[in-house]
Amino acid sequence: MYKRGDLKNIVMVIVRNFPAEAQITRIEFEGPEIAVYVKNPAVIVNNPEIVKKIVKELKKRIVIRTDPEVRKSQHETKEIIKSLVPPEAGIKDIQFDEVLGEVIVKAEKVGLVYGKNRNIYNKILVETGWRLNVVRAPPIESKTVNRVISHMLQQSSYRLNFLRSVGERIHRGVIYENRYVRITALGGFMEVGRSAILVETPESRVLLDVGINPAVVGTYDMYPRLDIDQLKIDELDAVIVTHAHLDHMGLVPYLFKYGYKGPVYTTKPTRDLMVLSQLDLLDIIQRSGKTPPYTQHEVKKMILHTIPLEYGEVTDIAPDIKLTFYNAGHILGSAIVHLHIGEGLHNIVYTGDFKYGKTRLLDKAHDTFPRVETLIMESTYGDTVLKSRREAEQELIEHISRTISRGGKVLIPVMAVGRAQEILLVISDAIRRKWLPRINIYIDGMIDEVTAIHLSYPELLSSQLRERIFRGENPFVDDFIIKVKNRQMREDIAKGDEPCVILATSGMLQGGPSVEYLYMLAEDPKNMLIFVSYQVRGTLGRQIKDGAREITLVSPEGKLEVVKIRMEVVSVEGFSGHSDKKQLLAYLENIRPRPKNVILNHGEPSAIRSLANSIRKRFKNEFNVYTPTILESLLLAGVA
Ligand SMILES: [Zn+2]
Repeated sequence: MYKRGDLKNIVMVIVRNFPAEAQITRIEFEGPEIAVYVKNPAVIVNNPEIVKKIVKELKKRIVIRTDPEVRKSQHETKEIIKSLVPPEAGIKDIQFDEVLGEVIVKAEKVGLVYGKNRNIYNKILVETGWRLNVVRAPPIESKTVNRVISHMLQQSSYRLNFLRSVGERIHRGVIYENRYVRITALGGFMEVGRSAILVETPESRVLLDVGINPAVVGTYDMYPRLDIDQLKIDELDAVIVTHAHLDHMGLVPYLFKYGYKGPVYTTKPTRDLMVLSQLDLLDIIQRSGKTPPYTQHEVKKMILHTIPLEYGEVTDIAPDIKLTFYNAGHILGSAIVHLHIGEGLHNIVYTGDFKYGKTRLLDKAHDTFPRVETLIMESTYGDTVLKSRREAEQELIEHISRTISRGGKVLIPVMAVGRAQEILLVISDAIRRKWLPRINIYIDGMIDEVTAIHLSYPELLSSQLRERIFRGENPFVDDFIIKVKNRQMREDIAKGDEPCVILATSGMLQGGPSVEYLYMLAEDPKNMLIFVSYQVRGTLGRQIKDGAREITLVSPEGKLEVVKIRMEVVSVEGFSGHSDKKQLLAYLENIRPRPKNVILNHGEPSAIRSLANSIRKRFKNEFNVYTPTILESLLLAGVA
């Protein structure tokens, strides 16, 4: 923990350890990192132990940048890069960030650009003065990734100023001696939706997730309780986003509308997926004639304020808080949050949504941490044991096969992120293995774009999938997987005779193409509606799942119409990206070290109560189990 005046200390440690030949010209805070500008990077590159020693002493992340004076021209740099990087790397594009001194290389094989032990990276830095930043060129281009990168490039000097001001704030030094840690439930407690938790110490205030309640989009109830006294949006130190589902990040841009100036910490794929989903949300709200809570302007601002982190990277986010992300196994880029507060005063692990089991898409959630006193754990399936993955897959294939053989169509509403890709892998695999006839799978909504984002970050996918992609296979592409391009095509598919499978967003039938298909397919008993994910209370999906067979829908002409559901409706539960009851209890069995407090959130009251009882029964008095409701606070450390 840094006391006031320690900036001098940091500078002294760096200057003392750097050889004079390196020629330091500036030392700056850049977000959580300390940037050291030098004229001669070769000395540092050739003696990596110098930086290692400083990192160990300061416990800070150091980045070496070069003085603009020593950077070669863009033309020369391009030539040098092309001569150093082997052609198999498949370089697609080279761009320059003059402000940060970074050269952004887009390539098919990222590893080949960096070289063995980063030897090419180092050579490029030494020979050109530019720092290499490699972006993957996926087999399907992601418009979102391209947009995010070009926006950051355009606004590079804004971003540098922002990073410097965040850096100053993080390293502002500890003022208060009176130490405590308190959390307040703002949303997603004793309910599912609008997740938000405020973490407070005398020094800092951090928000964990800021989601909407998808069941009541466009109304006041979609917001978590951001209106409480102790939450001053413009004074927050940081916002941390666990994953890119709207009930966890749908309102991040809204904070910027109300004066937030700080950073958003998340993983790179979460950043990209969150931009895509927020823009889609704005579109859906606008089309429904309601006023959106923010505009594209705030989404763009959020992009510039996002500081992406990798799993396992320990990062200072406030004078007294360090953040580390771990794989949550829920969707691409999803993270379990570890907060190390006040030099060991208290450690919080917040699972976000997590899957303690392997899926086709992702590896199992992480369960071992350096320290943990308080675990905040989601409880979506706190009272339900789900079918095994294998049974679920079999059941899904049987349902599809039955519908196809009677000449019907299968509609599967899916969230674009995660479940869509998982189900796509299951069905396409079944077709390739001839367990299903060669039928068309139509994908509609943002699924295609989300898949492109998955292919941009294969290193974060499950080990099996990753290997296939690195071999050059694209498991999401086949000629029977067809993207639906417009409303006319949608109508042709729904009204034609062809038996097929349709994967469409939104996953809970709250707007989007899935509702349009439902409108067109509902009255034919040959068809089938299959739910493969959790349906939040209050959504149309939940109503139908709970047995409603007469629903009111908006027709394509914009009129309210009563529609009878005569198609078969089934749910296949085992595909969840959430841990079921067994997996939640197994997590408590296996988590190391052992927490003292277990706080349950993200579940309906019955699920949370049932899980709390099971925990008390199974683990006797090992944990203090808490089941707070919204607006309740808990003092986790310190004296009241
Ligand atoms: Zn989620």
